[in-house]
Formats: sequence, C-alpha cells, structure tokens
Amino acid sequence: MTELPIRNDLIGRSPYGAPQIEVPIRLNTNENPFGPSPDLVAELAKVVSDLGSRLNRYPDRDAVELRADLANYLNSESQVNLTAENIWPANGSNEVMQQLLQLFGGPDKSLLVFDPTYSMYEDYCRNTFTKYLRVSRNADFTIDRTVIDSALALSPDIIVITSPNNPTGTVIELSDIDYLLEKFNGMLIVDEAYAEFRATGTPSALTKLDSNPHLVVVRTMSKAFSYAGARVGYVAANPKVIAAIQLVRLPYHLSTITQAIARVALRFSDQLQRQVSLLRRERDELAIWLSEHGFEVAPSGANFLLFGTFGDRTSIWEQLVEQGVLIRETGPEGWLRVSIGTPEENQAFKTALLHVTNRTNGK
Ligand SMILES: *Cc1c(COP(=O)(O)O)cnc(C)c1O
Repeated sequence: MTELPIRNDLIGRSPYGAPQIEVPIRLNTNENPFGPSPDLVAELAKVVSDLGSRLNRYPDRDAVELRADLANYLNSESQVNLTAENIWPANGSNEVMQQLLQLFGGPDKSLLVFDPTYSMYEDYCRNTFTKYLRVSRNADFTIDRTVIDSALALSPDIIVITSPNNPTGTVIELSDIDYLLEKFNGMLIVDEAYAEFRATGTPSALTKLDSNPHLVVVRTMSKAFSYAGARVGYVAANPKVIAAIQLVRLPYHLSTITQAIARVALRFSDQLQRQVSLLRRERDELAIWLSEHGFEVAPSGANFLLFGTFGDRTSIWEQLVEQGVLIRETGPEGWLRVSIGTPEENQAFKTALLHVTNRTNGK
C-alpha cells in the first residue's frame, strides 16, 4: 500500500468497519434483527422484476417519487408538514453526510461533535479536508447549555448532534436544540439515525425545520426499516439546502432499483413500526435487567444499550465471543455496547453475560 502514490494524509490509515466474527448471536452493528417480512419480500420481487427490462435507462436523477414518499412518512412519524422539496435521499446516511460535508465543509471550515459519538464523522471531515473539533459530553453523556456554550466558544462552522447518540443512546432535549439554533449561525446537523426508537412523545428535531434554514436532519432506513443492506439514507431540510446539495451530488447517484425498493418498504411502514415497538420494549426490559444485576446502563432512546463498567472490557468482550455472542467494544473505556436483538437473542446475551461475569440473579 505504502508504495502507491496516495494522499499523504491517508498513508497508514485503516478503513472504517466493525470486526465481523462468525458467531450465532450477532449484536454488534445495531442492525434490526428482523428481516423484511415475506409479504414485503414478495412485493420487492415483483417491483424488481418489472424494472429489469428498463435498466438500460438512467434512474430519475431527482428521485421525485421516493422523496414524496419519504416526506409523507416523516409527516406521519413526526407530525410535521414536509414535501418532496424538503427531502434528499442517497446511498445510506453515510453518503448523505459526505454530501453535506462536501457542501458545507472544506479546508477553511470546521465541524464539531460531542464526544463520545459515532466515529464516522471524523472520516467525513478527513475526506473533505474539514477541521474536526470535539467537545466532551457530561459524565452521564448528556449535552446541556454549559456543554453547548463550550462548543460555541470554538466557533465551528458545522455542529453535528447525534440524537439518539451512538454509542451512548442519549437523546438531546429539544429545548437544547432550540438554544443552539438561537445562538449558532452555522449549519446544525442532527443525525437521527435511531429516531424511530425514541420514547413515545419525544419530539424530533424535524419539528424545528420550518423556521430554521440552517438546520439539517439526517435519517436512515438502515435501522428501524430493517434495510441496512438496501443503503438508503436521507436529509430533511429547507428546500434551499436541498437545492444546494445538487451542486455536489454525483449524477444518477441513486439507482432505479434502490429508489423502487425504498418505496416498497415505505408502504410497509406500519408493519415495520410494530417491530420497532417490540424492540423498544426489549430495550427497556434489558436496561432494567442490567441494572438489577449490578451493571451501569446509559439511558437509551436507540436500539442498543451502552453498559459497564468493566476493569478489562476487552476480556469480557472476548469471553462473550467464546459464548457465541458478538457485541461491540466501543465508547468510553470500561463500557460495552449491545444491539437489541430478537427476544431469544437477548436471552442468550443475558445468559452469556452472567456466565462470564459470574453474577447471580440479584432477585
Ligand atoms: C448506523 C448509523 C447511521 C446509518 O448509516 P447508513 O449509512 O444510513 O447505514 C448513521 N448515523 C449513525 C450515528 C449511525 O449509528
């Protein structure tokens, strides 16, 4: 690798990716454990087969129908009033984020995150030569006005708030978003990849879009929609932001097939919502179980839990792998992250965890 004349700042770097190990229980990448249902799969087969003979043509560059469907979905999911003009989809929210950084970042700009958070933001900055700034969250992983004030003191051009946050699950209060919108003149990106898993009654940052052209909300179909393999993420923002993104997007970036299969899943959103409710219940039950058994658990609005704390978390992680359970060693020292699986997978995780930590049932 080093002999190739690649960019200096990329020499010696490793690509992003969670270690994948073949074990029976995989609770490490926050995927939805339920695959798309048989009736959804049957619909997919039909739609793809109809489109096959038309693949000689380029896709709809503007993805107009998909954008309208996504707007309708958000309108019912978050009680907002968006149209296709407010939406921009791409191949995963990863691509959407990269487009946003190509547009709002650059060599003379900076982006700020609240640590600990998702490590990909640093990569988007590196790829776009944007300066990467970080401010620590409180010890309980929350962001409050004091934390926000120290962020503003660094005068970033872009602030990213992940809510629910990965890997902590922490949800930011909407009043703190209001505070930021009032004090900050740059672009505020709220990454709501896990929004569908938040507690009922928690408002989304989408409700603030109307009056704030500097606010961008990022969503994905990878988690709640059980569609990580389809690669569909999207932005909701003021139509001016969406129009500006056109400057940096590649032509025909979203394939005809991707657009069509995303629309099929959206038609099944009620069915998928029932699975999301089940996963939320499982999460809340597992959080209670963990604290009943003497573990610390960060309050989570996502489909995973950060728990601990361990003197040697690597050893716990390895022993769980030996028991056939793969979770993720990520986040602050001492903590581990487990994605919420099916009830059976969660049970297997509990059994394995008790086994490796030698804790007996506290009740
Ligand atoms: C999983 C995740 C995403 C989703 O990325 P996709 O590219 O849409 O699969 C985005 N943001 C965060 C914080 C995530 O954890």
